[in-house]
Amino acid sequence: MTAEIIPASAGEAVTAAAPGSRADRLVSYARRADGSDESFPLIVIRGATDGPTVALTAGIHGDEYEGPAALWKLAEAIDPARLRGTLRLVPIANPRAFAAGTRTSPVDNENLARIFPGDPAGTLSHRLAYALMHSVVESADILIDSHSGGVRLAFLPVAGFYEGGDIAPEVSARSLRIARQMGLDHLWLLPPVTGVLSHEAARRGIAVCGAEIGGRGNCLREDADNYLGAYLSVLAHNGMIDAAHKRVETTSCLEGDWEQAPDAGYLETLVVLGDRVRAGQPVAVLHDSLGRTVREFRAASDGIVMAVRHLNSVGPADLATCVVKETTR
Ligand SMILES: [Zn+2]
Repeated sequence: MTAEIIPASAGEAVTAAAPGSRADRLVSYARRADGSDESFPLIVIRGATDGPTVALTAGIHGDEYEGPAALWKLAEAIDPARLRGTLRLVPIANPRAFAAGTRTSPVDNENLARIFPGDPAGTLSHRLAYALMHSVVESADILIDSHSGGVRLAFLPVAGFYEGGDIAPEVSARSLRIARQMGLDHLWLLPPVTGVLSHEAARRGIAVCGAEIGGRGNCLREDADNYLGAYLSVLAHNGMIDAAHKRVETTSCLEGDWEQAPDAGYLETLVVLGDRVRAGQPVAVLHDSLGRTVREFRAASDGIVMAVRHLNSVGPADLATCVVKETTR
């Protein structure tokens, strides 16, 4: 299918598809000096009957591939004639970072996951954030933003939601409901980080799930398939596709954040993903360039290893360990 480039400012991209059809677009969000366009891919699938609008984004970080692979599979799996509502899929939200295979943009070094809602007069990444928020996400009912551990990390399958802070209680409740409907291994109470797409969307009243699966710089088929099953489950739970796609809702909830490396060095990890560890158990050791122990990381409490470092070299403030507590929702 040949995609055409259309300007995001026109706001036409998201209404491009006629009822019961799919439209593929490259949405322009900036113009280069030579007159060519910077664009991101958008697949709109409009059901034959009205229903919720769901935005699904992936590839906000350019070295995460599970989400993009799953969104392409989703686009193939959905029959527009039998869909109720509309899907807006952005499989590669950060094309420049994707092309470079990097987490951040090689153009302006911005982390796209920290600058939403963006700025139409800012750097390339700020303009991209603005276009994604205003042309795709802001007018949706539900947002699922799919991430992974990228090159550096590996993550358990977790469906993140927000609660409290500046997120309205009613929006928090809807965010938890969507996360549960994903049917992944665990829920994850997301830290409220300013500039993250899902957080800024929740502040605007959208029911959001920010998810993580896998990483290690590649994409396992089982991880992409897990995401696909999660998307189909949410669509089924919300009456948009056949109820047979519903997964059992997740009740296990992980709460906690990661521990950062105090300095650069070589990180030796002593546990594997999903390990259940006891308080005080050694989980990683940071070495300097002479091999000396700089820091030994121990679990602060009993918990589960939600993420591990895959790339052994670390910089200051990089994730070193991630042992979180398990509760039930
Ligand atoms: Zn990410």
